[in-house]
Amino acid sequence: MTVGELCQLCGLCCQGAFLRYALLDANEAVRLESLGVPTTTRRDGQRALRLGCRALSGTRCAIYQARPAACDSYFCQLAFRLRHGVVAPEIASQVVEQAQALLREIEADLPPRAEDDPPSVMERAHHHGLLSGPALLRRAEALFREHFLVPGQP
Ligand code: SF4
Ligand code: SF4
Repeated sequence: MTVGELCQLCGLCCQGAFLRYALLDANEAVRLESLGVPTTTRRDGQRALRLGCRALSGTRCAIYQARPAACDSYFCQLAFRLRHGVVAPEIASQVVEQAQALLREIEADLPPRAEDDPPSVMERAHHHGLLSGPALLRRAEALFREHFLVPGQP
């Protein structure tokens, strides 16, 4: 299994499971808007895609050929480890499935989405809290820290 194949089954970064933004330059922002993908300007003036990204279709990017450079060059920890043979493909797939299952559990534990809710399930969970208490959210955060999050990313 290649990293590309793993990513096509995953989409967790695009969902905003552990990242908030994909950074854009001004031209990319215009191009994405013209494709119907909303962009935002952060408080620091940086143009960005707010994650979960509206171009995500299931676990795949619907504008793959036109995706911005930040998406093209992005590697989470798991993708990096798979690429360098540090983690076996079957283990990488299992980690993705585990993370997706946790996100589904979290989503099921949230109140219905409100119009002004943030786009990602994890942000909604932080915003509203979970009906069952914080344990599930802590488990998911620990898993994302261990397998996905690269320190210092937006
Ligand atoms: S979270 Fe990692 S494995 Fe999943 S789509 Fe993003 S880069 Fe690929
Ligand atoms: S543009 Fe595509 S690759 Fe980039 S965050 Fe959105 S769905 Fe993911």
